[in-house]
Amino acid sequence: MAFDAQTATAWITASEAAVKADEARLTSLDAAIGDGDHGANMARGLAAASTNIAERAPSTPGDVLVAAGRGIVAKTGGASGPLYGSAFRRAGKALGDAASVEAPVLGAALEAALTAIKELGGANEGDKTMVDALTPAVAAFQAVAADGGPIAAAAAAAADAAEQGLSATVPLQARKGRASYLGPRSIGHEDPGAASTTLILRALAEVTA
Ligand code: ADP
Ligand code: MG
Repeated sequence: MAFDAQTATAWITASEAAVKADEARLTSLDAAIGDGDHGANMARGLAAASTNIAERAPSTPGDVLVAAGRGIVAKTGGASGPLYGSAFRRAGKALGDAASVEAPVLGAALEAALTAIKELGGANEGDKTMVDALTPAVAAFQAVAADGGPIAAAAAAAADAAEQGLSATVPLQARKGRASYLGPRSIGHEDPGAASTTLILRALAEVTA
């Protein structure tokens, strides 16, 4: 199955539903090491992404992701809004004008999203952020794609890797974002942004399965 505008739109819709369903969990993760708004930020951001896609009715998967990113940036507060907004916009631009793309191109777009987040936020792996979920996810996606695997298998591997990356944030001390103000007291909790990244990648696996 190729990744086209319909699948890209379904991804955003499924991400919105997943974040809504887990909004309270994202909020409580952020209440532990931040300010407790991550669930609300993500719910608002993905709702705005869906609205922007519906208004523009983009015909390519690249334009769908750019529309999603613009919707998120326009409506989401917090650190995560600009980070996710840039990530989706950069992923969309990486897809170009193609009507549909296969796994290697989608893998390159996910890598572009990761690069955008790292450039904007300055975080690296180990800093206890969404980068800790997305970095292993991109590597896992690209490994399956390089072997000729379909998008569904690559996305499932990416979601599993993100989940492991999320678990690996628990013993880390935050070095970026609001949680870093807690110093060693940030240890012992999952990073909320790594949790939302895992939900978004699981949604990609669901809609491409
Ligand atoms: P805020 O921290 O402004 O309240 P959110 O609560 O919505 O924003 O998002 C917090 C999440 O954003 C963190 O859990 C972390 O994953 C991510 N984050 C914060 N700062 C950075 C950064 N500089 N680089 C990457 N991710 C970051
Ligand atoms: Mg917060």
